[in-house]
Amino acid sequence: MVLKPFKSKTIIEPFRIRSVEPIRFTTMQERQKLLKEAGYNPFLLKARDVLIDLLTDSGTGALSSGQWSGMLESDESYAGSSSFYKFETAVREITGFKNVIPTHQGRAAENILFTTVAGKGDVIPNNTHFDTTRAHVEHNGAEARDLVIPEGREPQTIHPFKGNMDIDALEETIESVGTSKIPIIMLTITNNSGGGQPVSMANIKAVSEVAKKHGIPFFIDACRFAENSWFIKTREKGYADKTPMEIAQEIFSCADGCTMSAKKDGMSNIGGFLALNDDNLAQKCRSLTILTEGFPTYGGMAGYDMEAVAKGLYEALDEGYLRYRIRSAAYLGEKLVDAGISIVQPTGGHAVYIDAKKTLPEIPPLEYPAWSLVNALYLLGGVRAVEIGTVMFGLQPDGSEKAASMELVRLAFPRRVYTQSHVDYLAEVIIAAYEQRDKLTGYRIVEAPNVLRHFSARLEPIGS
Ligand SMILES: *Cc1c(COP(=O)(O)O)cnc(C)c1O
Repeated sequence: MVLKPFKSKTIIEPFRIRSVEPIRFTTMQERQKLLKEAGYNPFLLKARDVLIDLLTDSGTGALSSGQWSGMLESDESYAGSSSFYKFETAVREITGFKNVIPTHQGRAAENILFTTVAGKGDVIPNNTHFDTTRAHVEHNGAEARDLVIPEGREPQTIHPFKGNMDIDALEETIESVGTSKIPIIMLTITNNSGGGQPVSMANIKAVSEVAKKHGIPFFIDACRFAENSWFIKTREKGYADKTPMEIAQEIFSCADGCTMSAKKDGMSNIGGFLALNDDNLAQKCRSLTILTEGFPTYGGMAGYDMEAVAKGLYEALDEGYLRYRIRSAAYLGEKLVDAGISIVQPTGGHAVYIDAKKTLPEIPPLEYPAWSLVNALYLLGGVRAVEIGTVMFGLQPDGSEKAASMELVRLAFPRRVYTQSHVDYLAEVIIAAYEQRDKLTGYRIVEAPNVLRHFSARLEPIGS
């Protein structure tokens, strides 16, 4: 008997589930009350009242049995623990960087790096600074300049690498600011604030060449380096036969160092690192690490955290995992597009972004259309998403309000947590909200702090 090999159409979850965490169902009536009590702000909901939580992909992933077994074997010694050396070996194998400094999460690596290199009057170019990166650059008196290609700012424009840096704009910036005022050049892969969009290898190399030509160190914000490697493999000519590990190594070989949040492609619940080649700079960074994080062989992490990251970095580069991961976002995106819903195209790595300005054109930006849609998703289906729009970005330093450039609803996927049926359900909830879009109303802010207001503001629906 000779059977023809069969090629499956379904990309299945590349794991089986051995430990389960129940999720709690609530009725729409209960959610109505819970949301009102939370000031119509999903950040103020209790997690147990949420059925599917897509607030963030940061630190929310499931650990593997391999990670748990490593964690049980951890060495909690203050100095020189064996868990640190496993962590250091993994980071060195993947990045090639000589000096590895552990930190409790990504922003701590940013704090150490920018406190050490950046000062008043300096400019840091990046494709798009993530908000904590921008905050650390500005906290040190420097300017964070975003130089993503124009396509990266247009939700509906299709481009395989919308996270690319505009190389001409980078050259112009160096020309006008002067190399002495640019301590480092950064590139964020994937470009989180720009919709989780990847950067091509050609662009990484081009940035690297510009940096070398001007003698400026080049650092990568590497939070989603594995997802970016997968996009290079599947979208860029010449990389189809390379493994994600080979691609990741090639990416890092172009740079002088990186900052990393292990809560993303470290597949861990906490952790991060700063890695770099320059010994002198590393020495300065280690001194600051002792001050703010801890001894340089644990840097704010427990031994078991370092074990989880040491294993997680390799698991993030597994092809089966990456195929499933990127497919989950694309799968949801396709269902929404088929239903006529506008999303940021193409879908990126860790999240799907709904364009609320297009979906709810009747609600003016200052009545927060994306916020309205986020609340509708919770009311209809117990789904928690996040607004990336005028509530988040609209408040100006002088206290006035200005519409944000985009009104997006971000649905971020925790790693290895939800299955295809969860995604099918999610699509149903979003489509149900879309079908009733003429019933959705705007919101007004009842009370809010002056900074980062979206985390704690209280709102109410207009006309209710
Ligand atoms: C999450 C993130 C950070 C900050 O990392 P934390 O671990 O949250 O401190 C920095 N840059 C990017 C691109 C991120 O996604």
